Amino acid sequence: MSRPSRLEENAPGKYYVTSDCNGCGICFSYALQNFMYSNDASYYFIYNQPADEREEADIRRAMEVCPMSCIMDDGAVS
Ligand code: SF4
Repeated sequence: MSRPSRLEENAPGKYYVTSDCNGCGICFSYALQNFMYSNDASYYFIYNQPADEREEADIRRAMEVCPMSCIMDDGAVS
């Protein structure tokens, strides 16, 4: 199995969604400001990196509930 890759649409920055995304949209319901869906809605990606602590907390919650565990944090200090 190939390693999941960082989707190209992700906004530059520490958070990103990988090719494992199944398009369920749960992340979007947790962090409307930060996720967006692809043209065919088959996957989601980070549209905006967090602008403040509240948005960062929303993304972290989305990471916890994502069924594919495909929302990643590259470990960079924000
Ligand atoms: S919750 Fe995870 S699997 Fe579902 S759309 Fe978001 S990134 Fe993709």
